Amino acid sequence: MSYKNVEQTIIRTVVKIGKKAIEIIEKLLFPPRCIFCTSILDIHAKVNICRECHKVLGYIGNKLYYVNKFFSKNLWQHKYFDRIFCVFEYSGYVKEAIIRYKYFGKAWYYKTFAWLLANMLLNNNAGSFSRSSINNEYDMIISVPLHKERAKKRGYNQACLISKELSRIMKIPEVSSLLVRTKNTTPQSLLHNEERSKNIKNAFKVTDVNKVKGKKILLVDDVMTTGSTVNECSRVLKEAGAVKVDIAVIAVAFVFEL
Ligand SMILES: [Zn+2]
Repeated sequence: MSYKNVEQTIIRTVVKIGKKAIEIIEKLLFPPRCIFCTSILDIHAKVNICRECHKVLGYIGNKLYYVNKFFSKNLWQHKYFDRIFCVFEYSGYVKEAIIRYKYFGKAWYYKTFAWLLANMLLNNNAGSFSRSSINNEYDMIISVPLHKERAKKRGYNQACLISKELSRIMKIPEVSSLLVRTKNTTPQSLLHNEERSKNIKNAFKVTDVNKVKGKKILLVDDVMTTGSTVNECSRVLKEAGAVKVDIAVIAVAFVFEL
């Protein structure tokens, strides 16, 4: 090995050690916290959720079947998506964490939310997937688009951050740019159930029909309430020729009588 190579190897090693040291100092000063109860986690924690929350949070688990049945039967004459996958019921700590994520600048929560979604999809809570079959299940991941102005105001698009991370974990391409919001609608949360479908009608557009035609799509959002938004996105995607649109959300907010 030449002198120059030795020098380069030493520099690379020093930089690597330096980066690791900064990371450790950062974690000691700002220890990782559970995104739900905010308790301090082990310094090596890869996902920001504590054991206690893991045990007590309102996971949908095997109630997923009833969630799908409920949305199929009760909400629309025309349902355009195929299946719904969700991790939690929208209440308690989950609701508080999602509100902090969307409205109080906690953008970094996206990693944990994406991990929880991937975990649910891959670990058979959802029923039919395995690590080897998931890539045949979907051609692409798309997130529910936020209007440009609202994304600018918030500084980030909460659904898109989750879908990009989910794409990285599940190794399925993320192409959220294929679906855009053309209308800056009134926030759905401010409307009554029956007003929501009207408000969201014709608010979305597929940017390149050829890239959607014949594709199996996983559509990602943070919370599903009446489902009007994801249903309208699915309508546009199906009309552009998508053969399957499944919905993946962190939480379902509708009050179920299961
Ligand atoms: Zn916790």
